[in-house]
This record gives sequence, structure tokens and C-alpha cells, in this order.
Amino acid sequence: MRNKEKAMGKLVDYILDFLLGFPEKQEKLVGYTADKTHFADYKVVIVPSDFFSEKVFGTATSLPTLPLPELEGVPVLFGQPKVEKIGETLVCYADLVASSFFLLSRYEELLVAERDEHGRFSGKFSLPYRAGFLSRPIVDEYGQLLRSWLRDLGCEVLEPTPDYSRIVLTHDVDFLYNFRHFRGLLGGIKRTVLGQGVDFKTVVKSLFSLENDPAYTFPWLLEQDKRVPKSHTIFFVKAAKKRAKLDYPHYSLISRDAHHFFELSNLYDCEIGLHASYASGVEPALVLQEKERLQSVISQPITSNRHHYLRIFKPEDMDMLLAAGITDDYTLGYADVAGFRLGTCRPVKWINPITKRVTELTLHPLTVMDCTLSNENYMALNYEQALDCVQKLLLQVKRHGGEVVLLWHNTVISDRKAYHKELYAQIINFLAS
Ligand SMILES: [Zn+2]
Repeated sequence: MRNKEKAMGKLVDYILDFLLGFPEKQEKLVGYTADKTHFADYKVVIVPSDFFSEKVFGTATSLPTLPLPELEGVPVLFGQPKVEKIGETLVCYADLVASSFFLLSRYEELLVAERDEHGRFSGKFSLPYRAGFLSRPIVDEYGQLLRSWLRDLGCEVLEPTPDYSRIVLTHDVDFLYNFRHFRGLLGGIKRTVLGQGVDFKTVVKSLFSLENDPAYTFPWLLEQDKRVPKSHTIFFVKAAKKRAKLDYPHYSLISRDAHHFFELSNLYDCEIGLHASYASGVEPALVLQEKERLQSVISQPITSNRHHYLRIFKPEDMDMLLAAGITDDYTLGYADVAGFRLGTCRPVKWINPITKRVTELTLHPLTVMDCTLSNENYMALNYEQALDCVQKLLLQVKRHGGEVVLLWHNTVISDRKAYHKELYAQIINFLAS
């Protein structure tokens, strides 16, 4: 019992510090209590709802019902949208701690059974999407509310600088090349013969030089990334031995082409992270094997991960990342709709939604992925709509001092039917300006 209370205390401290944007020292500004005799100890008190009570937590009744009430224009998941002054203390009956926990830990993904054809919890199933606020990092808006109340009460609390805290440009290497191996070459010839938009000359030219292969667009991507001052590029590389169908094609990590790619990545000072396989989505123990395989090839420690197909779903997957020595994960976005899956645009420690434990794994919210914007089954946006959508998300990130994480695949750049090359260049312009 005491351990449970201790874990709960740590969770509340972590969430309050996260909301405020700074760790509280001895003098506590914000309290989380229903005990009126303690209200005067704090400047602001958040009164807990029954969300964390034994009767409610983990049951279907804990899920919020729509429509959600709003407090100063911000949706509230639990408690009442009401504040009042009691003595010198501002008392808030909206349970901002439980609401933040719900979003940051992806609690609802444990309770809602719907899954897409890849076993993923889709954005369209999520409460933030259904309630119409997926494109707003409302946990960060809660923080803004708390800080403004504290300022009204005479506390010197600053807003974060409206700028990106970090810009991370990431590329998942699902394909290193198209036509450089035997199967790819045969596929290319077949597509040429069938008139499926593959030019025979390109196939032949790829045979003679990696740079001529249409999937090898890394030099172009790196030149774009370089235009954004202080940005950080990560390539997420596959290293699976045991593969599911959707983990194909396989590329050798010790081939001359892979060596060439790793040298290029080094030259531009990029990070190599693990692109955990589709198979590891159902067999999380594979993550460690894959990480060790990749690590042995590049002779550098791997600490970052993104799951192929953004296929991460269970607390066990996160535990396995931690056990494999992964400290930073970049998977948490929805494939089908862009927005803030974690309710925040800032990196946040993974909170286990069952045990409520705050772990050492840092989750970096994915701001947007290329195919989410264009895919017919996802958002199906045209070029102008896609650019507008990304710019709006980036402005939110900037406003809250958050982190930008973009995911652009090397393969979409050479797709002549898609707009992603032009769009990426335009987004880079936006970030660089
Ligand atoms: Zn992938």
C-alpha cells in the first residue's frame, strides 16, 4: 500500500513539474488534494476527481464521455470546469493531473479494443480526435493555464520562449535502394515490361551506381536538413533477422552500399537509430537482438528507436525498449491522422498506464509523417492542405517551446506522383526562416 502511495506521489510530482515546465523546489506552488485543511499550503490547488480511485481506475467508467466541458477554452477530461478563490488559494475543480495522465500515458489505448489492420490503435479511435482537439497539445495548454493563474496570484512564473526547443529531422530507411539487389532488379524489370511507371534506363543506371538508384535520395535529404540551423538528423535503420512480410525488403547492413550510406551519415554528423521491425510489434523481445545487430555494424551505441509502421502498442513494448537500453523513442504519432498523440509537443518520460510508474524512457512526440498527409486511407490532403496542416502544427510546437519531429521517407522523395519532395523543401524553408 505504501509503495502504491509513493508511486502515486512521484507521478503527481512529475506531472505537476511537467505542466509547469520547471521542477518545483521546497516551496510548492501547486497542490493536488481534496483536503481543505491543506488548501492554504499552496497558491493553486487541483482537486482530484475519482479517476484514480480503486473503483474507477482501469474500468470502462473511467473513460470520459463526450462532449467534454471546457475551462477557459481548454477541454477538461475529468472533474468540473470550475475555479474559485478560497482564502488566498485558487482552487481548481478540473482534474488537470488525471487529464494529463490520461493523455501522456495513452491510458485509453489499454481500454479501447479497436485496432486497425496492422494491430494499431488508430488516431481516429482516440478521444482527442473524436473530441476535435488532436491538433492541440492540450497538456501544454493546461500548463499555460496554471502559469497564468500563478502570475495572477503574484508569483514570478515565466512562459517558455516561443521557439522550438529542438528540431529533429528523421528518415526511416525502409528501403536503402530499389534496384541494387537481385529481387529488386527483377521487380524493376518486371515493372518496366508491364509499363508500371518504371523507366528501364533508371533500372540499368542503378545497377552501376548507388547514387542513381531512385530510392537513394539521402544526399538530397541531407542537403535539405543542413539548411535548418541546429537541427538534428536521425536515420532509423532496420536490422531484423526474423522478419514479417511487411518487414521486406531486406537490405544487408554489411554490403558496400550500406557502408557507403553509413559513411554519408557520418559525414553529416547524423545519428543512427533502430527501426524496430514490424515483427517486433508482436514479439517485443526482438528489439534487443535487432539493436545489438545494428550496434555491432556501426560500432556505436544505439539509444534511439522508432517502430516500423509506428507499430507500438502495449506497455510491454515500452518495457522491452527500456530493457534493450533504448533511452529515446520517436514512434508516438498516429499513422492515420497528424496531431499530438501524447497530448503534448514536448519530450516526456513514458508513464506506465497500469503501474503509474514514471520511467527513464523519453518519448519524443512525432509531429508529422509524410504519408499521413497524402495517403488515401489517412488524411488524403492535397499539396496546399498538407502544407497548411504542417505549418499549423509547427506553430503550435513553437508556441509551447516544444520539439519538432518530422518523418520523411527517402522513397517518397523520388515518387513523381507524390508531392513530398516539394513539400519537404517548403517545410524546411519554413523551419529555416
Ligand atoms: Zn518503416
